[in-house]
Amino acid sequence: MNTPEDKTCASCGRRIEWRKKWERDWDSVRYCSAACRKHGVTATDEALESTILSLLEKRKGGATICPSDAARTVYEGEDDGWRDLMEPARRAARRLVAAGEVEITQKGSVVDPSTAKGAIRIRRTR
Ligand SMILES: [Zn+2]
Repeated sequence: MNTPEDKTCASCGRRIEWRKKWERDWDSVRYCSAACRKHGVTATDEALESTILSLLEKRKGGATICPSDAARTVYEGEDDGWRDLMEPARRAARRLVAAGEVEITQKGSVVDPSTAKGAIRIRRTR
């Protein structure tokens, strides 16, 4: 039997590498960890995804946004509580990469969303 293709976690958007222990129920594996299974995808997570797409729609061809743009847009308070949405915004961007909607870049090059560290930019898939 061939090793099945890797999957993407439905919550954090990181790659789930196939492991022998999942041989029997790989088809039903959706999350990379118990924490992700518990978190799932919240209404805020969905709002971040749609905000990323709508912000990109307003940018002219190929332009990028920062996850913080989506975090600030979704956060409703006046203080800097949007910072707590930074990691959720990155998770949303990774899920959109898995969906084929966007690419994550660093210094203008497309990077692997599962391993990229530091500041990232988001743009529509070309
Ligand atoms: Zn995960």
